Amino acid sequence: MRAAVVRASGSTATFTRRVGLKRRLSARSELAVEDDAYDAAPKYSSKDIRSGPGLSHFINRSASEPPAAAGKSDCGGKVAPREDEDKLAKLMRQVALAEAAEAAHERQSMLVDTHGRFHNYLRISLTERCNLRCTYCMPEDGVSLQPQSHLLTTDEIARVAQLFVRSGVDKVRLTGGEPLLRRDLADVVGRISALGVRHIGVTTNGLVLKQRVQALAAAGLSHVNVSLDTLQEQRFNAITRRRGLEQVLAGIDAALDAGFGGRLKINCVVMGGVNEDELAAFVELGSSRPLDVRFIEWMPFDDNRWNEGKFVGYSSMLRSLQGSYPELARSGDERNDTTKWYRVPGHEGRIGFITSMSEHFCGSCNRLRVMADGSLKVCLFDGDETLSLRDALRAGLPDRQLGALVHTAVLKKKAALGGHGDMQGIARSSNRPMILIGG
Ligand code: SF4
Repeated sequence: MRAAVVRASGSTATFTRRVGLKRRLSARSELAVEDDAYDAAPKYSSKDIRSGPGLSHFINRSASEPPAAAGKSDCGGKVAPREDEDKLAKLMRQVALAEAAEAAHERQSMLVDTHGRFHNYLRISLTERCNLRCTYCMPEDGVSLQPQSHLLTTDEIARVAQLFVRSGVDKVRLTGGEPLLRRDLADVVGRISALGVRHIGVTTNGLVLKQRVQALAAAGLSHVNVSLDTLQEQRFNAITRRRGLEQVLAGIDAALDAGFGGRLKINCVVMGGVNEDELAAFVELGSSRPLDVRFIEWMPFDDNRWNEGKFVGYSSMLRSLQGSYPELARSGDERNDTTKWYRVPGHEGRIGFITSMSEHFCGSCNRLRVMADGSLKVCLFDGDETLSLRDALRAGLPDRQLGALVHTAVLKKKAALGGHGDMQGIARSSNRPMILIGG
């Protein structure tokens, strides 16, 4: 133990408040903060303490005042006796721990909203560009792109990730646009992976996955999601307004070859009159391969031609699949999971439904989003993005101030669906196109 290391600052009232706070923390937190306390605290040796001016010197002093020089009392008093010094050392150690505990508490609470939801999942959009033009995602002529200088740099992305990870985020997903278009992607993955997150995933259209998946795996990528809405070539060309089904399927195979089996998901947005007749074909993708298929309800975003008449809800999809797979059975969901999971006996992969519109899961939402331009988006459907982390970073704000800004934004998060009530309300609201949010 580093018993001799203490921090000499703070009034009696501050000591009392902070030590009280420490006692409220769990034993686990206490252990966790000890090292922080050691790292953060100014270092005083046992010699400094013993030769110092005594307990009264410190406890009557304001936080901004430095301790007196070793061996002297700044009020002309005598050097304190040994017993007093030991009490001082003990108290100062308590203060250091309590201050670190308070800082840890503040960091954790940065990501708690007014509904008591703790956000440990950060989605970072890396680019606004995409090499497809999916009808449900963006207008045919694309979206107006911001200049490169408006987007977060590699270093800024790493700094943002670090800020959130220090506050409790342990799951990060990189999105776009198409994140694989970003040349520094492996570098970004490596830097976030080095922060010690338990999960770092990417959501891709799969077009160039085959070429990059090995490097991403080597950099520390843990999960891959591939967006794919049809297994028919003509349809693929119509939905994406581009060609490339073969490359996407090759990318899925390459991801399995690279070891992502069990950590690979196919995301399929289901649209009436477009692809709702392909559900069973998608289920077969995972019949003998370790990949999960998720069917996603079509959500309204700006410029994505959302049409309530073409909406296919969870219950309708489930009924359709139960016709083909009568033995389809509910599987266990994970905590904070957006997916309702099912299994077909004998199939390697699972089948999931993301029911954002018909049965939202906002009550357990743990997600925050940072856009490619550094805007913080606290809810997928909240068009009110008032915090630019890019501007705050470029203004040179320290982590503590960045954290305060993030917390203020998180406190504004609505209970559900960005406060729009239902999918009709969302459709009437103003938001970014999906391509600029990253899902
Ligand atoms: S709609 Fe908003 S609150 Fe609900 S799950 Fe999505 S991000 Fe979370």
